Amino acid sequence: MIRAGLPNITPKDHHNYVAFFLTLSCNLKCPYCINLHDHTIRANQVKHQTLDVGDWIRAANRLVLRADLPLTLQGGEPTLFSGFYRFVNDVKPEIKMDLMTNLMFDVDRFIKEVPVWRFTREAPYAAIRVSYHPDQNDINDLISKILKLQQAGFRVGLYGIEHPASEIRAHILEVQKRCQTMGLDFRLKEFLGEYDGAMYGTFKYDESVAAQTLKQCECRTTEIIVDPAGYVYKCHADLYNTRNPMAHILDAEFNEDSIDEFRDCSNYGTCNPCDVKVKTNRFQVFGHTSVEIRNIR
Ligand code: SF4
Ligand code: SF4
Repeated sequence: MIRAGLPNITPKDHHNYVAFFLTLSCNLKCPYCINLHDHTIRANQVKHQTLDVGDWIRAANRLVLRADLPLTLQGGEPTLFSGFYRFVNDVKPEIKMDLMTNLMFDVDRFIKEVPVWRFTREAPYAAIRVSYHPDQNDINDLISKILKLQQAGFRVGLYGIEHPASEIRAHILEVQKRCQTMGLDFRLKEFLGEYDGAMYGTFKYDESVAAQTLKQCECRTTEIIVDPAGYVYKCHADLYNTRNPMAHILDAEFNEDSIDEFRDCSNYGTCNPCDVKVKTNRFQVFGHTSVEIRNIR
């Protein structure tokens, strides 16, 4: 691994998403969270040393991103990463960032220490996207924090899952209405996966999610997703399971061409719904999937 003078990584036009999972730690305990429930995942996560902030900054500074492609910070709760504030200040100014957060952080510190321009760009959605988890983060607390952030100049959006359970769904819709009345951007996200014996979501590939039998295939991604240790994966299922990284973000040989290869996978059937779901791309055009799969057998 070379740590100085690293060549650039310049995502191509069809590369749709670049995300650093700064940490998988979280200060909430959502019962459906993939990070909390799979003990294999937890065990795998501690296998690798996490990157320190200096290495994350070097990794981000390798990126040459288009104006419409931010570096998304996610997790876990990315603001829990100990070097978060240094990271968002010290990465080269050309990099614009998005933040996926549960907003369980000190907003006064955030406003004081985070430059607004870092999270400001033209996009059809807010750069700071807050997930509302009923019974975990309190909606009144979220609303007052969002109003504060907006006053400081940040663009913030709230997201809730359209859960199939009727009482949760009714609650989310009621909260959405309340937020919209206040002029807040509250959007609904589709529930994906199994609930009460039914499968939810529109997936491009049959039996790719929660299948009984695993199959072989070849798969290639359109994304650069990097785990807390700096490893780059071809899908979220691999990332959360710490299996088969394609490279390390500080490998000098890793570049935009590395992403485009089809790679063998023997875990077809356990795909993460996010990767195989038919969804909107960064232009909000429907029909995109994060991965392309062929030769399923
Ligand atoms: S906020 Fe997200 S990462 Fe944290 S426990 Fe809930 S689902 Fe998991
Ligand atoms: S086939 Fe599924 S599990 Fe395998 S790499 Fe592709 S998305 Fe991941």
